[in-house]
Amino acid sequence: MNKAADSKIYVSRRESTRPDAPVLSVIVPVFNEEEVIGHFVEATRPVLEQTGLVYEYVFIDDGSRDATADILAEKLKSGLPGRLLGLSRNFGKEAALSAGLEAARGDIAVIIDADLQDPPDLILQMLDGWKAGYDVIYGLRVNRSSDTLMKRSTANMFYKLFNRLANIDMPANAGDFRLIDRAVIDALLKLPERSRFMKGLFAWVGFPAMAIPYERPARMAGRGKFNYWKLWNFALDGLTGFTTLPLRVWFYGGALISLAAFAYAFFLTLRTIFYGVDWPGYASLMVALLFFSGAQLLSIGMIGEYIARLFNEAKQRPVYIVQDVIEGTPEETAKTD
Ligand code: UDP
Ligand code: MG
Repeated sequence: MNKAADSKIYVSRRESTRPDAPVLSVIVPVFNEEEVIGHFVEATRPVLEQTGLVYEYVFIDDGSRDATADILAEKLKSGLPGRLLGLSRNFGKEAALSAGLEAARGDIAVIIDADLQDPPDLILQMLDGWKAGYDVIYGLRVNRSSDTLMKRSTANMFYKLFNRLANIDMPANAGDFRLIDRAVIDALLKLPERSRFMKGLFAWVGFPAMAIPYERPARMAGRGKFNYWKLWNFALDGLTGFTTLPLRVWFYGGALISLAAFAYAFFLTLRTIFYGVDWPGYASLMVALLFFSGAQLLSIGMIGEYIARLFNEAKQRPVYIVQDVIEGTPEETAKTD
């Protein structure tokens, strides 16, 4: 939580720039969600109506191979406000979110999963936070019992490592579920990187933030889209995107090892001078050899991780490709400014 938001200066600055009747964009990445997407719309719409704001859904179909897009197109044609962006293939949730942020026209945006693991009711509380002057209001998972023990503990380890290594403060157990002000959306859109680790980017852009704790229920239907291999690579993306310590640490590691090697060489020289040549030593040689080749491969691998990402950034390919856009009822989505 950020104290700045309580100060008078901050609130008055924001009061002058915030619209009285903001338009709300609801950004929903979907990938093979035919089983839940109908329920999602049914559950969120009453809440959005309750806000009294003009709102629009921004669905991003991240290359679904089921009926998700058809269901949504149908709903949009029969009066659901907003639009559906169909990506040309599955680009991953992070890319889909970038597409959604780009396509959102609102003064505020809510980012929410389609599987109803992010309780829609929370949007109302988030909105109160926004009115109070916060620019980012994020959901904080207090109970992750819907996740497996393995996922929880690896997630914990990741947050600890990330926050220790990276110079930004990323709240542990905060997902992508959040409400953000236009200022934050614009800031995010200005970040040019291709590797989009959203949780890190959210933290990197800053702005006064507030947490709303909630219990994360299990997925309503359908299957989770992330396996451990994906999560591992996701974590690597996060770490390499926000800290260079894994690259630099080898300098210090190498320096320490060299020092130790010098000391050992010195010791061996003295010992040879005083006690003569001593043959046994296969074990220590082997251990040293394995240790050093391991450390070298590890450090080269670490460099490889960064080079691979540099390579990807250098190619300058777009983060996603929009294949088609289906607009909902235009009169409701038109921005009123
Ligand atoms: N998702 C997506 N592209 C993907 C994977 C997931 O757009 O490649 C969407 C998915 O449809 C859902 C949200 O991202 O709306 C979260 O996915 P999931 O529930 O599988 O993630 P978890 O809850 O395990 O973090
Ligand atoms: Mg989920």
